[in-house]
Amino acid sequence: MKTYRIALVPGDGIGKEVISAGREVLQALAGTANTFQFEFTHFDWGGDYYRRHGAMMPPDGLDALRGMDAILFGSAGDPEIPDHVTLWGLRLKICQGLDQYANVRPTRILPGIDAPLKRCKPEDLNWVIVRENTEGEYSGAGGRVHQGHPIEVATDMSVMTRAGVERIQRYAFRLAQSRPRKLLTVITKSNAQRHAMVMWDEIAAEVAKDFPDVTWDKELVDAATARMVNRPSSLDTIVATNLHADILSDLAAALAGSLGIAPTGNINPERVYPSMFEPIHGSAFDIMGKGLANPVGTFWSVVMLLEHLGEIHAAQRVMCAIEHVTANPELHTRDLGGEATTAQVTQAVCAEIRSAGKPGQAPSLA
Ligand code: ATP
Repeated sequence: MKTYRIALVPGDGIGKEVISAGREVLQALAGTANTFQFEFTHFDWGGDYYRRHGAMMPPDGLDALRGMDAILFGSAGDPEIPDHVTLWGLRLKICQGLDQYANVRPTRILPGIDAPLKRCKPEDLNWVIVRENTEGEYSGAGGRVHQGHPIEVATDMSVMTRAGVERIQRYAFRLAQSRPRKLLTVITKSNAQRHAMVMWDEIAAEVAKDFPDVTWDKELVDAATARMVNRPSSLDTIVATNLHADILSDLAAALAGSLGIAPTGNINPERVYPSMFEPIHGSAFDIMGKGLANPVGTFWSVVMLLEHLGEIHAAQRVMCAIEHVTANPELHTRDLGGEATTAQVTQAVCAEIRSAGKPGQAPSLA
């Protein structure tokens, strides 16, 4: 029997609640599988760790993660600690340190979800956003000079490398090629940003030559927001810079019904380092500890984690269980207009996994 080593990094706020729910789902799955099991290692990094040690994670934290098969991450954010400290001290440190350069964000309207666009049918919205995850606007390059004085200067430099742009474009073209529509939209802003974004466009055109079966187009990021709302079915796979995709994927999640549903994978495609899976929502302190957090974004992230491990059938089983549960409005959490608690949704998904795991009840992929 295969044993997968899974690092659990719940982080802060509702991250703690949804990662514990994600672990329950993985355990329910392992309980019905006879070919694999999970060995969990829990890392208590985040805001509380910062209060004790003055850092969000220990200096050798990345070493502890390197030997893992995958990481399940909650969220980084604490009302008492500045956001740039929590983000850079934990999540971005892991993404950059483990070279998880492809941030992959699937979005679709799950069964039973009342999405806000009135003219958009569920089949019209089925996207995967690929976000560059290690450089660009969030490279971390920059600084402050004359701090606190009237002549203070602050810079955040967007750094785009040819290698970094080419590898993310290539990843996106490959992903588009693997999807039925073989359709890719490259998001840009090369009209206003006349250096790096022009290089971004040029590299897209070069990489496209290696993927003649992929239909692709370019869209300015501002126009892309309107297109997502007005013509969602014209999009399929989307590739964008770190900042652009950050914003577009929150819009995508809202258009699909809730931030609480959306998953993401921070992927190191070459598998030199483990990849990390997380819901896209933040720590949501307003609902922390109340049992209101929607755990579906984490469960969908678990599906991505299983796919990454090559456990495709297991991933399908979890996705089917999620879709059975979202189809029932009585199992909707408050963000979806319902009254169900995190625990009720988790128990329902686990029960679906267990019943689908019984002989003769193989699930079908929706
Ligand atoms: P960050 O930690 O990135 O600063 P945040 O805490 O400001 O994020 P988000 O996670 O981006 O907040 O979410 C905004 C709001 O959406 C939350 O305050 C919360 O009310 C709601 N929300 C987010 N995630 C969920 C969820 N999983 N379930 C229910 N509601 C959610």
